[in-house]
Amino acid sequence: MKVSIIGAGIGGLATACLLVAENHEVTIFEQQAKVGGKMNRFEKDGFTFDTGPSLLTMPHILDELYKRCGTTLGDQLSLQPLSPICRYFYQDDTIFNCFDDRLKTLDEIKKIAPEDVEAYTEFLDYAENIYTKTADAFIYNPLYSFSDFKKLDLLSFFGIDAFSTVSTRVDSKFQSEYLRKFFKRFTTYNGSSPYLAPATLNVIPHVEINQGGYYIKGGLYTLAESLLNLAKSLGCTFHFNASVEKIITENGRITGVRTNNQIVHSDIVVSNSDATETITRLLDNDAVPESKKQKASTIEPSCSGFVLLLGIDRKYDELAHHNIFFTKDYQREFEHIFTDKIMPDDPTIYVANTSQSNPEHAPDNGSNLFILVNAPYLSDAFSWDAESESYANFIIKDLEDRALTNLSEYIKVKQIITPTDFYDKYSSNKGSIYGTSSNSMFSAFVRPRNKFKGVDGLYLVGGSTHPGGGIPLVVQSALNAVNLIHRYES
Ligand SMILES: Cc1cc2nc3c(=O)[nH]c(=O)nc-3n(C[C@H](O)[C@H](O)[C@H](O)COP(=O)(O)OP(=O)(O)OC[C@H]3O[C@@H](n4cnc5c(N)ncnc54)[C@H](O)[C@@H]3O)c2cc1C
Repeated sequence: MKVSIIGAGIGGLATACLLVAENHEVTIFEQQAKVGGKMNRFEKDGFTFDTGPSLLTMPHILDELYKRCGTTLGDQLSLQPLSPICRYFYQDDTIFNCFDDRLKTLDEIKKIAPEDVEAYTEFLDYAENIYTKTADAFIYNPLYSFSDFKKLDLLSFFGIDAFSTVSTRVDSKFQSEYLRKFFKRFTTYNGSSPYLAPATLNVIPHVEINQGGYYIKGGLYTLAESLLNLAKSLGCTFHFNASVEKIITENGRITGVRTNNQIVHSDIVVSNSDATETITRLLDNDAVPESKKQKASTIEPSCSGFVLLLGIDRKYDELAHHNIFFTKDYQREFEHIFTDKIMPDDPTIYVANTSQSNPEHAPDNGSNLFILVNAPYLSDAFSWDAESESYANFIIKDLEDRALTNLSEYIKVKQIITPTDFYDKYSSNKGSIYGTSSNSMFSAFVRPRNKFKGVDGLYLVGGSTHPGGGIPLVVQSALNAVNLIHRYES
């Protein structure tokens, strides 16, 4: 079959690899000049930065992808476990290191929160239990047809903690504010608020701490490069600077795509463009009724991110590879982001220092700091044109006060990426970075499926589709889409 894929983000690349490995004739149209989408790389004056993801979880999903394309994860990429997985800085100068080695972490907890030592192990067992009950039902299941829904055991809903919020459950299990903040943070991995998202998302600590959180040697962008090379070697055609303007349909079935004013005939179209953009902008009204477009545009996006890349000519011994500087008042931070839709005035700041694992990412005695602050998705409440430079200076000053003494004096390279960039460059809905939010109990059911209902031959992949955002789930969306192609197109 002749397949057109819109977008060379991780979802589009993974789908291309799978379909071209099955001998389909696959062409990818990417509006940017290179692959990766939100997973990207920035290089300047001897500094190299990943501009998007910095942590890989659930590598078994990537391994499944590679195996279905005749290779393995181990052959393609070198995964590096980190010790500690992450270092946490609290505002009273307390520092907590989380390791994948349970005993080492418990030693840390004994020092900062002895009252919660037992609760830590109990919580990770509870998180594992949620994983066991949800993974097959909600991640590896396309949830498309009646036969998929039949696999859901409705009784199991009572065992996955869907009726309380992440925050309520965490507060009920831990006494110490240190561990409460620590466990609430994982909800941000899919761009949601721990004060709104169902406690089912407490599965994420299991995924990172029990299953392992990894760095990819050379940087996370190596994954995008590896998928590009694999797809090319299997015969996929790439067109860059090629924006798809319309998906063409006839009598409810795909016939092709329009790019650069040319129609490219296609038996199947897979859109890796944000689902809201695909439904509201790429499909005409005779293919999708206005009411469906309206509904798609009301799905709440995940949060976005404010990224500051700093190349500096010194090292900070205080920093590990991954670091979190916590806010004083976490609830207020999420109210700023999701309710007021403004940048938090006392944010939690994430700092990745990959030059610690990859010395070639910075000149000798230098460091490449990737700094990320959770940000609201785009709205009229906050103007990045007016605020980006001053917010960057505010973050630099905050980090100077927290641990990175005199940081501003060492800056050699400075680059700012705002939610507006995520919208302008990659067409992410309102600049969101993890697709749709999980700020309600029903979010898993409203996320667009990997086969579009109403237009035959149209499939959707990526973080804005089922099962959600983040690298492993995006790759799973591609695996789900290809499974549905097998089911409906052969
Ligand atoms: C700052 C940041 C930090 C993150 N941290 C992590 C992390 O640590 N771990 C993790 O797992 N995930 C993380 N994520 C999330 C992860 O990056 C995303 O979930 C994932 O990369 C999204 O992939 P995607 O396939 O949905 O598409 P995208 O990356 O959105 O790519 C879509 C592609 O389609 C192209 N496109 C769109 N419309 C068109 C069109 N009409 N024509 C042609 N091309 C088009 C775009 O240009 C883009 O290249 C992070 C994201 C960001 C931004």
